[in-house]
Amino acid sequence: MTTYAETLAALEEQHLRRRLRTFASADQHHRVRDVDGNVFISFSSNDYLGLAHHPRLIEAAQEALARHGVGSGASRLISGDHPCHRQLEDALADFKQTEAVLTFATGFATAAGFASAFLDRSSIVLLDKLCHASLIDACRASAATIRVFRHHDMEKLASLLAWARKRSPHGDVYILTESVFSMDGDVTPLEEIVNLKERYGAKVLLDEAHAVGVLGPEGRGLAAAHGLTDRVDFHMGTLGKAIGVSGGYLAGSAAMVDMLINRARSFIYSTAPPPALAEAARASLAIVRGAEGDERRERVRARMRQLAEALAQPLPPAAILPLILGKEEDALAKAASLERAGFHVPAIRYPTVARGQARLRIAVSAAHSAEEIDSLTGALSAQ
Ligand SMILES: *Cc1c(COP(=O)(O)O)cnc(C)c1O
Repeated sequence: MTTYAETLAALEEQHLRRRLRTFASADQHHRVRDVDGNVFISFSSNDYLGLAHHPRLIEAAQEALARHGVGSGASRLISGDHPCHRQLEDALADFKQTEAVLTFATGFATAAGFASAFLDRSSIVLLDKLCHASLIDACRASAATIRVFRHHDMEKLASLLAWARKRSPHGDVYILTESVFSMDGDVTPLEEIVNLKERYGAKVLLDEAHAVGVLGPEGRGLAAAHGLTDRVDFHMGTLGKAIGVSGGYLAGSAAMVDMLINRARSFIYSTAPPPALAEAARASLAIVRGAEGDERRERVRARMRQLAEALAQPLPPAAILPLILGKEEDALAKAASLERAGFHVPAIRYPTVARGQARLRIAVSAAHSAEEIDSLTGALSAQ
């Protein structure tokens, strides 16, 4: 029997021990203050458009809090189905250009809801190797047969699809991928994936967590950017990143949403999110889609161009630039020395990424100034 202390000591030994760092907002944007009062410029947030502190979101939430209270009181199927949730779902369906949308408390719960509604022992799921833990865990918790293909390997995906069709001629085959991969910042070859899924009669789930708000017309994401919206079966997303609030959603057909309402356990057996969060998310969507959203997206692009050029890295497609360092201790040391210089850039280690693939993950936001990017690249090259 290994004790908890021994397990934790072993993690420490391998430079894999994790600890919570507590930060509060220092300036309503991306400067954060730790409990000792030190202020850092943060490159760790997924609030890519800088909307989490936007006055219109705060106002929408405050008004809703005053009118509707804090908690929703029950799950949506019992008595928690507040009109705010429906209004947000209508706004999201209009944004994603799908028939219907269902929201969940988080993106993580959304993935679990998908799996419990659609996967059973006759299903086969094919996942890109770098898919997010929420997708992997959701599939593992189901009775489905799971196969993983090497990141972006379309030949392997094609051969797995052929295998799946032979093994289960009439069963459902699902391909799960992300539009922008969370720790690599690269983009999935979506057109090839939808071509393959149509050739083999499979279905595709696209997790747009890091693309919505940032990519595509009005920030609608990767599928919209490539005119592939109608060829993706499940559009998944989170309201916690560029939308600046909290929550998750699946967009697609009305029948798909009906299935979720009837089968998704993380929806059925969980208290509905506070109506105030739905109102804040709806206020955010209006900004994301409008001229201010375009301007913020343009600023993210400009800052990312500046960052990539200064670091002599290829230009990432969205707002994430990983600096791969390899060894876990090297990534930790680099993050620590950046912290001493006043920057919070998280070291990402196993099991979030593969062993020996540790990295700094730099996330850029519309709230960063050109001077702040300059000072970060200065600090990085001074080391
Ligand atoms: C963050 C993330 C999720 C989970 O969303 P939450 O709303 O944070 O629970 C799911 N998928 C991907 C790719 C993510 O990056």
